[in-house]
Amino acid sequence: MNYKIIKVQMENEFKICPSCGYEDGFHTMLKKEGHVMRWLFICPSCQNIFDIGQTLKENNEIRS
Ligand SMILES: [Zn+2]
Repeated sequence: MNYKIIKVQMENEFKICPSCGYEDGFHTMLKKEGHVMRWLFICPSCQNIFDIGQTLKENNEIRS
């Protein structure tokens, strides 16, 4: 896994690539790290990967 993840501070929206200025949004990927599922965004133009600090909760974490 030799890709770099760039951390970004998101404001009202995350649509324009901070690296190359591509304006039409991102591909998405998920990356599991322990119990955390990181939600990452890939620029279709420059292929940089961005982390805006969002994570997904796994569905099998249901507790009664
Ligand atoms: Zn880009």
